[in-house]
Amino acid sequence: MVQIKTAEQIAKMREAGLVVAAIHAATREAAVPGATTKDLDQVARKVLAEHDAKPNFLGYGGFPATICTSVNEVVVHGIPSDEVVLKNGDIISIDCGAIVDGWHGDAAYTAFVGSGHAPELIELSRVTEESMWAGIAAMKQGNRLVDVSHAIETYIRRQPKPGGGRYGIIEDYGGHGIGTEMHMDPHLLNYVERRRGKGPKLVPGFCLAIEPMVSLGTPKTEVLQDEWTVITTDGTWSSHWEHSVALTEEGPLVLTAPDGGKAKLAEHGITAAPDPLA
Ligand code: MG
Ligand code: MG
Repeated sequence: MVQIKTAEQIAKMREAGLVVAAIHAATREAAVPGATTKDLDQVARKVLAEHDAKPNFLGYGGFPATICTSVNEVVVHGIPSDEVVLKNGDIISIDCGAIVDGWHGDAAYTAFVGSGHAPELIELSRVTEESMWAGIAAMKQGNRLVDVSHAIETYIRRQPKPGGGRYGIIEDYGGHGIGTEMHMDPHLLNYVERRRGKGPKLVPGFCLAIEPMVSLGTPKTEVLQDEWTVITTDGTWSSHWEHSVALTEEGPLVLTAPDGGKAKLAEHGITAAPDPLA
């Protein structure tokens, strides 16, 4: 069952989304060479406290931290640690969440630590981010869930990979419904799997966390002994981008983007829904 939200509930989710955006801004500044991933977790904690918001990752299935910090070949669910010191040349995907009055926000981005990154890494992150926006642009009335998956996959497959070969679209993880829980129905694949059918119709009040994960090699992953950290099986580096998005009568609203998705959706010829909090 898909949870359909009212306009008032979407406004609450926008509040949570803006807290997530604030965590993104603060952790982005803190993700510098010499910082530990535990430092980033503290930064996130502080922002949540300042906004009177609650963490949704902490304690989720026993997860021990406020954010996920996934460095280089770690795809998702990296645990912040005193022992992981960021160094120049690393890439890190930072996944953050917040709860406001029972409503959840969830979003992730990939950052470059320091400078001088290889063009293939810069392109990896760009392709992953843009595939997320292609998926967000497919959040429109009349479409079905599969249209979002198709938009993400098609975008990635059309991008030439520097040095040749194919990008790995991570298979074991995907997006999800979001609302009064962080993870709700439906599951959103980042590629089309015919036998799953077309999925539910996208109607106003439908909220999705759209989150492509892409590697420079394999689509396959494995989980380390800590039972959280997900790495690529071939050790290639990966990127993860995510936004929580609400479909409204007036189009998509990107709940976790400061501008509600206005600028990036305009590139797709789409007008973002007006911000209910503006
Ligand atoms: Mg997330
Ligand atoms: Mg998510």
